[in-house]
Amino acid sequence: MKQILLALKLNLRKLILISIIISVSCLFIVSVFILNYVIKDQLIQNSLLVNVKYASKVANSADQHFDDMLKELKYSADLLGQDFSNPQLIQQEAKRLKNQSNKFNSLLIVDKQGRVISFAPQSLNLSPHISYKSVGIVESLKHKSTYISPPYWSIRHNLVVLLSQPIYDQNKNYLGMVGGTIYLQKNNLIQKMLSTEYDFKKSYMYVIDQENRIIFHPDPSRIGEKIINNTGLDYMTRTRMGSVRLINSRGVENLAGFADIPSVNWIIVSQQPTEELFKQANDILLKVSVGILIFYLFIFFIVWRMSRFISSPLNSLAKMASMLNQPDIQDKIKQVDPWYFEVLKFRTSLLLSSQTFSEKITELRHHVNTDPLTGLYNRRGMQIFLKELVSLGRSFAVLAIDIDFFKNVNDSYGHDQGDAVLKTLASLMKNNFRDEDICCRTGGEEFIVLMTTSDPKVAYNAAERLRKTMESSNSNTIGTITLSIGIAFWPKSSTDVSEVFKMADNKLYQAKNSGRNCIRY
Ligand code: GH3
Ligand code: MG
Ligand code: MG
Repeated sequence: MKQILLALKLNLRKLILISIIISVSCLFIVSVFILNYVIKDQLIQNSLLVNVKYASKVANSADQHFDDMLKELKYSADLLGQDFSNPQLIQQEAKRLKNQSNKFNSLLIVDKQGRVISFAPQSLNLSPHISYKSVGIVESLKHKSTYISPPYWSIRHNLVVLLSQPIYDQNKNYLGMVGGTIYLQKNNLIQKMLSTEYDFKKSYMYVIDQENRIIFHPDPSRIGEKIINNTGLDYMTRTRMGSVRLINSRGVENLAGFADIPSVNWIIVSQQPTEELFKQANDILLKVSVGILIFYLFIFFIVWRMSRFISSPLNSLAKMASMLNQPDIQDKIKQVDPWYFEVLKFRTSLLLSSQTFSEKITELRHHVNTDPLTGLYNRRGMQIFLKELVSLGRSFAVLAIDIDFFKNVNDSYGHDQGDAVLKTLASLMKNNFRDEDICCRTGGEEFIVLMTTSDPKVAYNAAERLRKTMESSNSNTIGTITLSIGIAFWPKSSTDVSEVFKMADNKLYQAKNSGRNCIRY
């Protein structure tokens, strides 16, 4: 895991971005899931509510109509009961009922033997001498009371429902019935009521009678069919009004609202396929999701910009932490704007570290460039100054100084005494030369002084002064110590620095050969 993270070369900015991508994606997915649930649930509740409202509204108005129709028939039955032997009245009543309100498709007045003694319209062409045995007529005569038939095939092969009222005379003797039919497969009252422009998102209505037969359906071929395999049927016939999620006989899930028509004991169902609703839900979900996505992308953009803002000072400071040896690093660190606490803390500690670091470096430089015994510059230190002098083009004299017979000092008085002599000479050199002259110990008992002068006289005088001082600084234990000195000049003796050093060495050799304790240039 760590390896993978390292391979990704993560930095603070990438980390912020990755975490924001992960959290925004999670948020988005969760939002879509919740939205999906909420939208669908809301749409289902709405659909059920709308369907039940619509079904009960239509049921109410249908109930009113059927009540009126039964009342019309009852009025006629009462009238006929008073004078059932009057053929003119009977003819008139059939016509009047058919034409007055046009609610019935056909009208029949039947005597108790089942003979149709009057009918309308005339096109039915029924014979008054035949006892018709259609379901409606037979059942109505059997009931001898208000009767509403199930759908059945009439004498003239129309799928009909019959609404009938019994005819009694004043002495309560049963005389027959007056009945009005509704042609279920032709233009009829129910159709007019239910086929109103109600076609929202594949919603549709149908009507079932008390025996679960379809009285009305948008698909005319299903009228008269007995409903089976509808999962909501039991609930609807029991509850009479409400809503239910059902799977119909065609296996389609629907959201249904239903209400009964009390006068005829039928149920009106208004329903919408759930799938249609979900299509609508998906449309809404898509639109909302796009909106949310745009919003989240906007957030992501802001965080992306902010991540740069947050990470850039840390990034700069981190880079500077690896360049603490640069001379202007402190100024650069100070330029970083510490706009939040962590950066301020980081910046302060980095400034402190860089200070300590530069102090340490100076100290180390000093150690590296000086000789611990005498405190003079060593060969390394001398090189630095040489470079500087040459690059500035300043003329200088090289004084090569060597103690005479120093081996004898060591041999006679010991190494420590020898060291003491070296220290004495160093201190005499420091006093003898000016501050801008560079005194170095380049070997065991070999010393070099770089004098910033081009005048041989000045160099010689200084060397002579040192030689004399050394000669006269007599110590009780060791006695007199003398020096031999060789001098050469840059660029006068040679423009090649190493050549100048060689010449100074040669001059020193000459001084040694000339009996020591002297200077040659
Ligand atoms: P001359 O230069 O006059 O020819 O004779 P010399 O005896 O000085 O000869 P040389 O320069 O060859 O001797 C150098 C001696 O310096 C050898 C060594 O014992 C001694 N020496 C070198 N480095 C040190 C040091 O750091 N401390 C001490 N005490 N002695 C040193
Ligand atoms: Mg020597
Ligand atoms: Mg010597």
